[in-house]
Amino acid sequence: MIIAVASGKGGTGKTLVATGLALSLKDNVQFFDCDVEEPNASIFLKPKIEKKEIVYLPKPIVEPSHCTGCGKCAEVCQYNAIAVVKGKVLIFNELCHSCGACSLACPEKAIFEVDSEKGVLEGGRSNDIEFWQGSLKVGEAAPTPLIKALKKKVDNKKTVIIDSSPGTSCPMVEAVKDADFVILVTEPTPFGLNDLTLAIEVVRQLKIPFGVIINRCDKGDEKVELYCQENKIPILIRIPFDRKIAELYSKGIPFVTEKKEYLVKFREMFKLINKELS
Ligand code: SF4
Ligand code: SF4
Repeated sequence: MIIAVASGKGGTGKTLVATGLALSLKDNVQFFDCDVEEPNASIFLKPKIEKKEIVYLPKPIVEPSHCTGCGKCAEVCQYNAIAVVKGKVLIFNELCHSCGACSLACPEKAIFEVDSEKGVLEGGRSNDIEFWQGSLKVGEAAPTPLIKALKKKVDNKKTVIIDSSPGTSCPMVEAVKDADFVILVTEPTPFGLNDLTLAIEVVRQLKIPFGVIINRCDKGDEKVELYCQENKIPILIRIPFDRKIAELYSKGIPFVTEKKEYLVKFREMFKLINKELS
């Protein structure tokens, strides 16, 4: 089973929940930190890194002597990574997703591909948990291909927990899209509700069952609760504000190691999700 932990916005406690869930289940768990622009789950899980793999992806290059300036490459690029201006091809590597469409579409075979470094994948163990993370190369602006490469390490025989990128754009979609269930972490504030509704739209489009965890549930208003009630969205766990949790988080200590009642809550939630999916 693949469970993705996502949130419409950063700072809601997504990694707190993802690492807490992984530590509650332990056996046969694979953990993926797919927040490749800012991976931080390793701070809490403290894995022993055993493998490193540099990820290279193809980058298109144009041979000007073969190019007629027809513009077909720009037409097929879904990511606006190519423009043809006054017959000259401009490639914006930061936007390129290495999909290969431009080289296939070029009638003159003027586009060829060279390998370009996108980032690094690191794998290891945190006690019983198999840990993987991706780190995007500095200066790279398209995290999706690296997330795709990271998710190739998913072992479907294991319980897979994915710590997604925050937000609701391509990296979040790439991280959650093959999940069997998505946990959306939010907070009871107007911003929390706004970003939660956007994240819900995405998982509904992807047709993935989901539930909500409300973090700092006693520090805002009731609108998130009411919204979930009205829309029949299950609230899986409510985590009240607790200074101790904040202190542990700031020290890089997973809160479930000291607040052991949450180990039980996460295990019960996991059982509930299993039941829901079976
Ligand atoms: S499709 Fe090929 S020939 Fe046409 S503009 Fe692009 S690179 Fe040049
Ligand atoms: S490889 Fe894909 S994303 Fe990159 S420039 Fe070509 S068509 Fe666009």
